[in-house]
Amino acid sequence: MSSAEAPNLVAGEDRPAADGRWLEKTRPADGAVLCRFARSGAADADAAVTAARAAQPDWAARTPVERGDMVRAIAELLRERREEASELVVAETGKPLALARGETAAAIEMGFFMAGEGRRSYGRTTTASMPHRTVLTVRRPVGLAALLISFNTPLPNVAWKAFPSILCGNAAVLKPSEHTPLSGWWLARLCLEAGLPPGVLNVVQGLGPEAGTPLVEDPRVDLVSFTGSAGTGRVIAGATARRLAKTCLELGGKNALVVCDDADLARAVEWTLASAFSNAGQRCASASRIVVFDAVYDAFVGRLLDAVDSLDPPGPVIAEESMERILAAVARAREGGATVLRGGERVGERGWHVAPTLVEGVSLDAPLSCEELFGPVATLYRVADLAEAVALVNDSPYGLTAAIHTPSVHRALRFAEQVAAGVVVVNAGTHGSEPHMGFGGVKQSGTGWKEAGVEALDVYSETQYVNLVVDPGLA
Ligand code: NAD
Repeated sequence: MSSAEAPNLVAGEDRPAADGRWLEKTRPADGAVLCRFARSGAADADAAVTAARAAQPDWAARTPVERGDMVRAIAELLRERREEASELVVAETGKPLALARGETAAAIEMGFFMAGEGRRSYGRTTTASMPHRTVLTVRRPVGLAALLISFNTPLPNVAWKAFPSILCGNAAVLKPSEHTPLSGWWLARLCLEAGLPPGVLNVVQGLGPEAGTPLVEDPRVDLVSFTGSAGTGRVIAGATARRLAKTCLELGGKNALVVCDDADLARAVEWTLASAFSNAGQRCASASRIVVFDAVYDAFVGRLLDAVDSLDPPGPVIAEESMERILAAVARAREGGATVLRGGERVGERGWHVAPTLVEGVSLDAPLSCEELFGPVATLYRVADLAEAVALVNDSPYGLTAAIHTPSVHRALRFAEQVAAGVVVVNAGTHGSEPHMGFGGVKQSGTGWKEAGVEALDVYSETQYVNLVVDPGLA
């Protein structure tokens, strides 16, 4: 296999799709073809699940400490090869190298964090009403996990699922996004190189409905862990509900950043830019709604527009159809009477670059206010006070993250009390998680599981209650 191919990885071997079909992956930066990747179907998913099933018992038989040591070895090898990893991500996504390097570092850190959990796989002991009975809890593997991920931060997306899955003694089949087939396959091969037994982490490439659906529907798959859009999440939840499989869905957001009348405006501008436009707005935690108190609205927006005018290009969005969808949504808002203050157009003629876009005058029930665009587009809203800001923030089907800019601890904590969001940030951006911090949202942003942190162990393991009853007469 040449490096211009991203095949499947089954039982430690690179494999083309069973029927020999391939798809082309283009470079978002310039639209040129980057590589081809396996266009997998049901037969490929079946082979990968079979390989994972075969590998899982031996892997589960290792101690959590040994499995943690393996995760550490993978993280160490990734650290050695971090430049190669980052460059692959740049080619696949078009994001700036500095951003890709930061993501690679985040994936490495997730490995080190999870490795340590091998020695901290704590349970509980408790008493019981029956004499001489003690109950203890032990984490057991779930079994076989299907890991389906988005393209937006491809290496951390793999790390957040594969590392806790490996640590907890599962075998897995990873379905990378069709937009980032190379980095997922590359990282799974790196795991093998670090010593992970073949079959513990397999890769099936391809399109969601063709390669993902058979994984989600396979009765041998005990856990489906998915990161992607709410629309796909609904389809997956339907399939797993029919067979009652454990399902972790990490979905989208329509996150708000609130600027109060006492905010440090320079700081609020800086974090608005980072939250709305870094990674070309392709973060589940991006800020797409900027909610500003009336008293500082004009001053804040004036500064924000100046800052956007001198912003470095945020990089392309992932695909031509994403660019078209984003530009069409902004055009529709304009036709509906909204004012596009900046952007709303393509930049250049090569690649899929969308100018950082700021829109105002969008009604609260318009699609631009309600639907996640996953691009560098933010809408501005004017509110009278904190109560109005909270009402606006909560007027969303999503509840992933929310930020507020204020020096007042009273306002900040009242905001945290009242907003429906899994993560609340005071005086910074709507994004920015770390390996030890559980992450996940409420409402349509997810199904309540948290990923990362020790909370991830609850997704990838089952808690078993072991009852010990001793007979003092036999002592
Ligand atoms: P997507 O839903 O289009 O695709 C995600 C994955 O699901 C891909 O691998 C895709 O091939 C697969 N898929 C698509 N249809 C499928 C089907 N019918 N059955 C099985 N698999 C299927 O999402 P995307 O465009 O890749 O990612 C963007 C979305 O992901 C946004 O909504 C974003 O907010 C969300 N996201 C959430 C988090 C989080 O932690 N909450 C993190 C990153 C991204």
